[in-house]
Amino acid sequence: MRKIDVSKEPCSECGGRLERKHITQEFEHEGVKVKLSGIAALVCADCGDIYFQPGGADKVAAAANSLFDLAVVGKQHKRSLTAQISQPQ
Ligand SMILES: [Zn+2]
Repeated sequence: MRKIDVSKEPCSECGGRLERKHITQEFEHEGVKVKLSGIAALVCADCGDIYFQPGGADKVAAAANSLFDLAVVGKQHKRSLTAQISQPQ
C-alpha cells in the first residue's frame, strides 16, 4: 500500500494500468476487527497493488482508528465493526 501523487501514473511495481475502484480494507487491532468498504482507490490491473490519492491513506487510517475507538468504548460491537462508504455516482 503506497501513496502516489498523480493518478495517471502506472503501477510502480509492475508498470501496469491503474484502475479506479472502490475497495474494502480490513484492519485488526488487539483482537478487534474493523472493515471499511467503499473506499475510493487506484488498483493495479496486473498485480493488484493498491494506491490511494494523496492524503487518502491517512484518512483511511484515521477512519479505522475511529472505528477501533468506537468498538472499545461500545463493547456491544462483538469485536467486529464495518463501515460502508457510499457516494453519489
Ligand atoms: Zn502492478
